[in-house]
Formats: sequence, structure tokens, C-alpha cells
Amino acid sequence: MVINCPRGTADIFGDDISYRDFIIESAKKLFKLFNYSEIITPAFEHTEVFNRGIGQSTDIVKKEMYTFPDKKGRSLTLRPEGTAPVVRAIIEHKLYSKVPIKLFYVENMFRYERPQKGRMREFWQLGVEAAGVNSPLIDAEVIWLLALIFEELGFKNLKLLVNSVGCDDCRPPYINVFKKYIEPQVESLCPDCRERYNTNPLRIFDCKVRSCGTIIEDSPKIYSHLCSGCTQHFKAVTSLLKSLNISFAVKEDLVRGFDYYTRTIFEIISEDLESVQNALGGGGRYDRLIEQFGGPPVPSIGFAVGIDRTIVLMKQLNISCMQNEQENNVFVILLEQEFEGYGLEFLSYLRKHGIRCDISFEIKKIAAQIKWAEKNGFTHTAIIGGDEASSGIITVKRLKDFKQSQLNWKKDPQEINDIL
Ligand code: AMP
Repeated sequence: MVINCPRGTADIFGDDISYRDFIIESAKKLFKLFNYSEIITPAFEHTEVFNRGIGQSTDIVKKEMYTFPDKKGRSLTLRPEGTAPVVRAIIEHKLYSKVPIKLFYVENMFRYERPQKGRMREFWQLGVEAAGVNSPLIDAEVIWLLALIFEELGFKNLKLLVNSVGCDDCRPPYINVFKKYIEPQVESLCPDCRERYNTNPLRIFDCKVRSCGTIIEDSPKIYSHLCSGCTQHFKAVTSLLKSLNISFAVKEDLVRGFDYYTRTIFEIISEDLESVQNALGGGGRYDRLIEQFGGPPVPSIGFAVGIDRTIVLMKQLNISCMQNEQENNVFVILLEQEFEGYGLEFLSYLRKHGIRCDISFEIKKIAAQIKWAEKNGFTHTAIIGGDEASSGIITVKRLKDFKQSQLNWKKDPQEINDIL
């Protein structure tokens, strides 16, 4: 029986690798420009990291984690997101002693969700965490970086949404106001939201059920209940975004799926993405999280971008992942087995010159070999038979117009650069 990969996971190959490389490389260039350095954390952590970090009443912790005991009975969890592990690492290695610290990661995440296009059980995110800055300047810089990532990739019609979810001073009183407003209609909420009403009422704003949407439509929003510190902070962030000429919209009912956020939160969405899974990336401030993990108070902010979903949208919008014109490369065709050694020597010569090349591993008809080379993205062929081996001159053929060039590669090694 054939065995397929588990539901919600995918093999990544072919075209998708080109898109993926393009996205990661282009983001990494920006991370460098913005002075971020890379961190790689383990694929699994002690379950406590996420229970404490993300929040016990979030959907992720309650329903979506891949949690398992190891052979000694310790509870481990495949990471569902990148922030809590980075925070754990910042404390473990006392990285907070050198704040501000700017870290980025490119990692796979695991969430037991109902798979659909753009929503996987194993998916890839690239993200940043900037720890140790209270100033709204870092909020603006982080949001700027997020916007630039998509701009660099060639996206045009994305929407950047921002909001503030307040702090420990203003959020609890707001939640009371919100709960009072909802109270008479609790029974009309969906079963999930009825539970959220008691455990994590703000999550109701994220519910996709239409009747819940109607109930909260006119409810009081946290935005108008922020304390003066949070109001000032948010005003400063939006004013800095304006000075950077970044277009954004304040979405007063924006909430995100993690409990650790304080003050600024943001999301970048595409209205072109056909599914409801239209968020490409998002993040926010988490000023208390490092402290909650047992570290010192270190205000921080970060975001994560979904790589798989970005690929889906790039393909849908016909955004190319080719950075340059296709590079030239050579398929070496052997006419007889006895020239294999000579062929390998020639491959070594090409590779030393940085030229991608491959060789026909079996002796087959020339026409079939040329067809194969064309189909597999080669731009040139080089045929090696007795004449070539004895004269040292190899004919390099450009496949698009069959233009031929003679290459005396041992005598004039640089000539290949003129030919390709
Ligand atoms: P989050 O970590 O939930 O804030 O998500 C950040 C980004 O990761 C989202 O905007 C998506 O692009 C992507 N993402 C989140 N969950 C999934 C998933 N299950 N499958 C694919 N991409 C996801």
C-alpha cells in the first residue's frame, strides 16, 4: 500500500522551493539591513513553554498543540509558534543582558488545525523578535520591516491593520465593560464563544461565525478604553508609520490568537486571497512575557509571516519568484561510455567556474538527450565523443536558437564565460 504524508503536511519541491528560497532570501536581506541576527530553537519544547507563553485559554493551547510524552514521561510539544521559544531562549542564555536584541527565525510550526488551502498542520514561518525597547520607535520599525518584506516580494494590494490591545491597567476594566455588553446575548453566541465569554472574551472578536460577528459589531472596542499611556504609545506608533509613508488602517476590533500581546498589534492581510485564511503575517508587542517566564521586565515586540500562505498568494497573483534572468547552465551529453572520465573532468571544470551542469548518466540517443535537457531547464548542451576527447575542443550548443560555439576548455579556460 502507498503511504502518503500525514494530513495537513506537505512535501516541498520543484516550483515551491524556488518561491520559498526567494521569500526567505529576500526577507533575510532585509533582516540584515535592519540589524537582526538569526536564532534557531528546537522543534519541540517542554509543554510548559507554550502553556505559560501563549495562554491556557487560547485555541492553540486548548486544541491545536501536538503534545506527547517522551520515553521518560516528560510532556513535550512541537512548537506551534516562534515567540514563546525565543523568549525561553532569551532567558535561558541571559540574552536580555545585551538588550536591545533583535532576532529572526525561519522555522516550521505545528498546529492541529482543520487543513485547507493556506492552512496546514505543519507550516513555515519567518519572524522577528525585538526585545528591550519600550519606545514606539521599535513598533514602527518592526511594522515597517513587515511591510517591506511584502513590498520586496512584489505585492501591491495588501492591507496593513493595526490596533492596540492595551495593557494590564486598561484591559481588565475594558473586558468587564465588554462582558456586560455581551451578557444579555450570551446564549446566542456559538458554543465556542460561549466558552470564550468566560475564559478569554476578547477572542470572540476573532470568531468567524456570522451570528457572533453581528453580536459584537456594535460592542465597545478596547481602542476607546485605552489608558493614557497606551493611547499615547499608539498615537506615536501611527504617527511614525505616517512619517514612513506606510499605509495602514486602524482596525479597532483586531485581536490576535495569543494572550501575551500588550499595546500594539498588527496584521497584514490580502483581499486577493480567496479563502478566509487571508492573513499573511502579524504580530505585536508583548511587554510582560519575558517577566512572566521568570526573566526581568523586558518590553518586546515581534511578528511572524506565513511562508506557505505567501507562496499560495504569489502564485495566485502571478508574482514571479525569479530574481534574475534564468542563469545559463550546461547539460553534458556523453556519446560513449569510454569518455566518462573525460566527461567528469569537464563537469569539474564547469563547476569550478560556478556553472550549474549535469551529465547524461546513461548512453542514449542524442535527440532524446537534448529533449530531456530542454525540458529540465538547461540552456546549453555540450556533446562529448571521440573527436572532442582527442582534440580537446567541445561544441557548446545554445538550445533556444541552436547557436554553436567551440570551446577549447583546457587551453583557454576563461572562454566559457564568453560563450555562456
Ligand atoms: P500567527 O502565528 O497565528 O500569528 O500567524 C502568523 C502567520 O502565519 C499567519 O498570518 C499565516 O500566514 C501563517 N499561519 C498561521 N497558521 C497557519 C497554518 N495553520 N497554516 C499555514 N500558515 C499559517
